[in-house]
Amino acid sequence: MENDSQFGVVGLGASGVVTTISLIRELIRRNSRQPGSPFQITVFEPNGPFPGGIAYGTPHDVHVLNMRASTMSIHSDRPDSFVEWLRSRPGVTQHHPVHEDAYVPRSAYRHYLADQFAEAVKAAEEHGGSVRVVPSQVTDVSPRNDGVYLTSSDGVARFDQVILCPGESHHPPHHSLAGHPRYIASSWDYQSIEEIPADASVGIIGTSLSAIDVVLLLRAQGHKGPLHAVSRVRPLPKVQGAYHRHELKYLTRHHLRLLTCDHTRPLTLSDVSVLFRLELQDALGETVDWENGVLAEIHREDHARRLAEDIRAAESGNAYWYCVLDATGDVILDYWHHLDAASRQLFEQWRPYWMTYRHCMPLPTARTLLDMMEQQHLTVSTGMREVTQGEAGDFRITTHQAELYVDYVVNARGVSGDSVRGGPPLVQQLLASGTAVAHPDGGLRVEFDTARVYSRDGHVWPHLFLVGPQTSGVHFYTNSMETIMRNADQAARAAVAALPSSKSKSLAEQQ
Ligand SMILES: Cc1cc2nc3c(=O)[nH]c(=O)nc-3n(C[C@H](O)[C@H](O)[C@H](O)COP(=O)(O)OP(=O)(O)OC[C@H]3O[C@@H](n4cnc5c(N)ncnc54)[C@H](O)[C@@H]3O)c2cc1C
Repeated sequence: MENDSQFGVVGLGASGVVTTISLIRELIRRNSRQPGSPFQITVFEPNGPFPGGIAYGTPHDVHVLNMRASTMSIHSDRPDSFVEWLRSRPGVTQHHPVHEDAYVPRSAYRHYLADQFAEAVKAAEEHGGSVRVVPSQVTDVSPRNDGVYLTSSDGVARFDQVILCPGESHHPPHHSLAGHPRYIASSWDYQSIEEIPADASVGIIGTSLSAIDVVLLLRAQGHKGPLHAVSRVRPLPKVQGAYHRHELKYLTRHHLRLLTCDHTRPLTLSDVSVLFRLELQDALGETVDWENGVLAEIHREDHARRLAEDIRAAESGNAYWYCVLDATGDVILDYWHHLDAASRQLFEQWRPYWMTYRHCMPLPTARTLLDMMEQQHLTVSTGMREVTQGEAGDFRITTHQAELYVDYVVNARGVSGDSVRGGPPLVQQLLASGTAVAHPDGGLRVEFDTARVYSRDGHVWPHLFLVGPQTSGVHFYTNSMETIMRNADQAARAAVAALPSSKSKSLAEQQ
């Protein structure tokens, strides 16, 4: 056992699952080239064997995947894996029909991940490996020349390679409201949401998919009081149209190579926006007018009317932009990687608009919301200025147009890229110790191709990797399984390639 290659994975959310599976796949491949290379993978997860995290940990069936079942396989060589798995387990989706285009409950996806994990563990055991899940929280990560030392309630253990998958950062709660008994600091605090009296008025801070989750949960539990979803800038997400595979013509790797002179010069935002515009215009067969079209459209404040129009567009096949954006998933990381720093900063003002389109909602969800808005059960507004405690023990939400008074407030601003202010405790510990450093565009700084972690003084730790939403500054769009899988594969390949038989350099050698 002592000669086994030792791997540590920290966190068993979706990233931890796909990372462990990628590691097993790489190690089995290595074993077929170098027979007799036993390995051990130790996975640390304190919150039960498959908590599912904030995305897939929800027990509520109204919380569905915001992507079609056909796009959610975690095996790139078996794209039908999730749909086939769903068909083989009719019990897990109960009232939801199963087909390629279905939006099934996120809790079903958690079970799928658990089953894929179990299958991979079995395969590991058949190839001289073993996988152990330790129910402990890692409290310290200490990379050294001979590997990485992890401290948990299980003790201190040395690993040849460690991949961290600690999950999302959160928007901190509203400082002045924290502790108020009717202020719910997180939209994932389902128990508190379930306890809201059915006739109470509720202010939901945010209009993204997380806010929609709150609306759907309250509706499902028979809530009768008025609901107000309010945000500063972002309107409701756009509505997903029918899905067709779009072949990119302009936003391609070939054009990226040409524009960057074979990756030797950086890109600007205007380079990318020209290609993006060409791609959309060609696909939609019409001119795209950013200022008077896209932007003006997003700033509209007649939210119910806009939603009705979006639904009609999705129903009548006029939402092909969705297929174009979906197709960019494969290349957008590479474009982001080559953008110069000023362009990345500039993009920040566009990010809310990008998110409105990229994180768009399923059509059935849109229909439910519109129905609630037409019944005056739900209002949506943008232009929020502040939320304060009212004099009568209620809350006052001020927008640029009006003041709203509500009995309850739910903070539903979703996840954040700010690791410094909202990162999980382990990330805070890495930052405080200088083992990691924040990336100016969000998350922590890692190597683009391998996801190796950078220390505060600019070294790359040879044995320490990071996968998941904490690499958002480097990998841009980390809120999808597609990107997480790609990064998990890269990290696993690099970690296995760096085992002693390969020519990896230790940190000391680099220095
Ligand atoms: C509400 C929501 C819906 C989404 N829907 C979709 C979708 O439909 N399709 C899609 O492709 N993507 C979706 N995503 C995006 C993406 O799939 C998720 O963000 C993804 O689940 C992230 O997984 P994770 O493992 O990185 O983080 P998490 O799920 O947060 O898991 C992190 C895990 O690490 C553990 N951990 C943390 N610190 C330690 C420590 N110190 N020691 C040991 N363990 C630790 C935690 O206990 C946790 O279990 C959604 C995201 C959200 C938030």
